[in-house]
Amino acid sequence: MPQRPNQKRIALVAHDQKKAEMIAWSKHHIKRLEPHLLWATGTTGNQVTEATGLKINLLKSGPLGGDQQLGAMIVEGEIDILFFFTDPLSSMPHDVDVKALLRISTLQQTVIACNRATADYVILSDLFRRPSEVSALSSVM
Ligand code: PGA
Repeated sequence: MPQRPNQKRIALVAHDQKKAEMIAWSKHHIKRLEPHLLWATGTTGNQVTEATGLKINLLKSGPLGGDQQLGAMIVEGEIDILFFFTDPLSSMPHDVDVKALLRISTLQQTVIACNRATADYVILSDLFRRPSEVSALSSVM
């Protein structure tokens, strides 16, 4: 997908108990998210699009392989930032996929925000408005 300068490739994922928070956060930051290229797991993406009108490329639902699709994109260097609102209080059938996504994002130097507080720090950071430089640091791999 063609990427304009300063445009980030962003993924949104929220566990069920965190979807309302993701929607509220996306609405709050809609102007900041709008200029970028967005992907999301199926249910998260549908709900955020419905609530905000943001144009989001939809992957499969997380438990049905969406987390793995996202992991594959991250391996290919196709995602810069992952806003992943995780639920630490529920057990999930796709726990292995969640762990794999977090592991591969960490390995690939992807910027990851797993809660709203961190997501605010990332999206309000000056670095968010600049071209990605973090990937240059990961070239030691
Ligand atoms: P969902 O997937 O957006 O399709 O609900 C999120 C998840 O990984 O649980």
